[in-house]
Amino acid sequence: MTPTPVLLNVDDHEGARYARSRILSSAGFRVYDAGSARETMELVEKHRPDLVLLDVHLPDMYGIEVCRRLKEVRLDTSVMVLQISASALSAAHAKEALDAGADAYLMEPVDPDVLVATVKALLRLHQAERSLVHANRQLEIVNKELQRSNQDLQQFAIAASHDLQDPLRTMSIYTQMIAQEIGETLSEQHKGYLKWVMDGTTRMQALIHDLLAYSQVGREGRTQSIIELDGVVSAAISHLAEPMQAAGGVIEVPRPLPSVWGDPANLVSLFHNLLSNSLKYRAPERTLAIQVRAEQSSPVEWTIRISDNGIGISEDYHQVIFRPFKRLHGFGIPGTGVGLALCQRIVEEAGGRIWVESVPDQGSTFCFTLRAA
Ligand code: ADP
Repeated sequence: MTPTPVLLNVDDHEGARYARSRILSSAGFRVYDAGSARETMELVEKHRPDLVLLDVHLPDMYGIEVCRRLKEVRLDTSVMVLQISASALSAAHAKEALDAGADAYLMEPVDPDVLVATVKALLRLHQAERSLVHANRQLEIVNKELQRSNQDLQQFAIAASHDLQDPLRTMSIYTQMIAQEIGETLSEQHKGYLKWVMDGTTRMQALIHDLLAYSQVGREGRTQSIIELDGVVSAAISHLAEPMQAAGGVIEVPRPLPSVWGDPANLVSLFHNLLSNSLKYRAPERTLAIQVRAEQSSPVEWTIRISDNGIGISEDYHQVIFRPFKRLHGFGIPGTGVGLALCQRIVEEAGGRIWVESVPDQGSTFCFTLRAA
């Protein structure tokens, strides 16, 4: 059940105050009366009214000054004020009252229906203002919690990855030593076991590395700035120069590419991940051809497309491949399944979207938007 709205009816003229009070009480409001500014301030503190109906003329203070003071009182939201004045002085008062923060203004004599309708309209406005304040407070709380849990997660990821890397490094060193020192004397079966251990260690190291990168994308202190994509793409391609040459692949990049908003290290990682996927998932029967294109899709946005002529992806998987650990291939092709999730996080952190267009056996185009500089 919604509580009965509380009104404070302020007028030093007893007859006018009584008449207004009766109209409002019979309309279902709880009404308190005051005859002076001092009494008004006391009753506002005591009853926290939803609305104050305020006469312009009060014996101890100018009514419009009272309105200004009421607007400085912060209860849950600011107090709603309906200023009321004698008609003779109305035009000047109306402007003055609204400048002082009054929410509405009425002239005497006030028609009872107009009075009740105005009060109801102002109360609806007050309720909406309250709901907004409440929603904003909830949002602030959720935001703070999200920030805290993000920080916790980042701290956890750093600590966990450091503590996990250490024993893995030890395992890796000692399995390599076993392989070097007694590898030749082992049976084929034991050589196989040793290889499984070494592969597992390498995979685990890659997984920790990728998870750490994933958790660090939105890290505090990383700021977005204007970045020239030409430099970003060159850096990503140079990291892949060797395997790209070995595969005989060609990358076509029309220059100049645009400048966008982003974090430089994140953007290099984004292009590196997508280009190395094109390389990894190439079709063995044709020469790998990759194309990078940029198109201004709106005055504030560029769409970047990285196309390949690789094995392609069935439509059923176009969404799920962006989930962490989602892989469509077994361990025959190395990978952790974190790459595209990382790409999505980087793009979303920069304020964009990412998606794939692909036909199996023909190729894939990974598309993403970035904010124009
Ligand atoms: P990973 O490559 O480590 O498996 P990703 O998150 O980068 O993980 O990719 C998820 C899956 O999406 C891959 O396992 C692969 O099946 C598919 N995929 C990604 N890029 C391509 C591509 N260019 N062509 C075909 N399949 C791809």
